Amino acid sequence: AKRRSFTASEYVEGIVKGDTSILSQAVTLVESNLYEHQTLAQEVIEKCLPHACDSVRVGITGVPGAGKSTSIDTFGLHVLKRGGKLAVLAIDPSSERSKGSILGDKTRMEKLSVHPNAFIRPSPSAGSLGGVARKTRETIVLCEAAGYNNIFVETVGVGQSETAVHSMVDFFLLIQLAGTGDELQGIKRGIMEMADGIVINKADGSNIEKAKLAQAQFRNALHLFPPTPSGWTPQVLTYSGYYELGIAEVWDMIDKYIAFVKKNGYFDYKRQEQAKYWMFETINEQLRDHFYRNPQIERMLEEKQQKVLNNEQSSFMAAKDVLDYYFDKEK
Ligand code: GDP
Repeated sequence: AKRRSFTASEYVEGIVKGDTSILSQAVTLVESNLYEHQTLAQEVIEKCLPHACDSVRVGITGVPGAGKSTSIDTFGLHVLKRGGKLAVLAIDPSSERSKGSILGDKTRMEKLSVHPNAFIRPSPSAGSLGGVARKTRETIVLCEAAGYNNIFVETVGVGQSETAVHSMVDFFLLIQLAGTGDELQGIKRGIMEMADGIVINKADGSNIEKAKLAQAQFRNALHLFPPTPSGWTPQVLTYSGYYELGIAEVWDMIDKYIAFVKKNGYFDYKRQEQAKYWMFETINEQLRDHFYRNPQIERMLEEKQQKVLNNEQSSFMAAKDVLDYYFDKEK
């Protein structure tokens, strides 16, 4: 059935009232790549901005199996006990709806998925990381206008997506596991450097000792890092998402961080930097899109590629020819 389409103001009115069905439809609009959807979506986002509630945005990352969904379920309930609302969003550029999105999946968060004050939304489907991340960032704006004062953004801690998440959250939480002895192996230094808190999950039963050992190792490693721009010293804690141990301590840490950066001005500064970052990201993305989607450019690139491969033209000259053609056409 074809549903009646809303005007931008109708969307905003529904969102601000906290109507989750309209919020969901607005998110779908934001995620759509259709030109007319995008135009309407941008109007909705713009109109939602003044309605944003005071929120805390937390990025949560960890490798598959680290216990992200279990932890988000537990952390989420903890946060909701204090009142307010929670939106769980995700960034997973590899996800495709048809295959079932891996992150932010409702079925992975059993308790939250039936909580009236939780809004769970899986990752926008596959696309460029920048594109997927931008949609999640725009969804944050809609959720905040709908009164979701707690925002979780989930991502898999294996690649580039951490940078994207880091650029839209106030606190970046890295979930780790103990066990292999050499805990720090395989963790990209860059990811650790972004973390405001490292939490070692599954600190339960016979695993507690190992988790404590990992905690000491992480603490030592963090000592070697340069001071953070926020002035905050990243903490390392152990907890169990499944058995609900140490949850209050993890959230205490986040509360302390938020109070700390609100006091020293870093909270606002970071949000402003992020807003700037996304302006430039959007420009970069659209410029790239405009360029690569041009059929003549596409053809020319094919041809130039062959020339470069056959050593008939240098990479630089080939690029220059294509760019000259493009800029000439744009004049
Ligand atoms: P994700 O892939 O990071 O989302 O991880 P999941 O939340 O799906 O958890 C992966 C596996 O670890 C599941 O079998 C969970 O039951 C288990 N798990 C998650 N948290 C804990 C925990 O705190 N303690 C223990 N013992 N197991 C856990």
